[in-house]
Amino acid sequence: MTDAKRAFIARKEQELETLCRAQGLSLTPQRRALLDALARRKDHPTADQLYDALQKTVKGLSRTTVYRTLETFANIGLILKVSSQQAKARFDADTSRHHHISCVQCGAVADLIDPGFDLPELPDKHPSGFRIYDYAITFTGLCPRCQQDSSHTA
Ligand SMILES: [Zn+2]
Ligand SMILES: [Zn+2]
Repeated sequence: MTDAKRAFIARKEQELETLCRAQGLSLTPQRRALLDALARRKDHPTADQLYDALQKTVKGLSRTTVYRTLETFANIGLILKVSSQQAKARFDADTSRHHHISCVQCGAVADLIDPGFDLPELPDKHPSGFRIYDYAITFTGLCPRCQQDSSHTA
């Protein structure tokens, strides 16, 4: 693991403590483990993938707890819920502005870090009448694994 990654995980743990205290949420071992697992991953996992990865090592973790906790984390701004080509939500511990690319075939999501897509500033009004808080762009494409699969069958 790189130093940057270690620092990122430590920062997320700090953020979890601060936000839980501010929101009156208890800092359960399950919540800690879930955030830690998400912060270590770069693949924007689904709730089910996180559950599968943790169910053996984290005591008292149910699928429902994972779903509910991720929703709570997203609501308090600790993590991002990322849209993908599949119906299943994917999650990201990195809440800094970045964009995503989603595979049309398997739903895999990767970061697309290119400041060229960032707006110089958020317009504060829109013709729709919405006040804009934030934005993220999701690109669609075919991931390397699916490209390989399709070249095999072709
Ligand atoms: Zn794919
Ligand atoms: Zn991301």
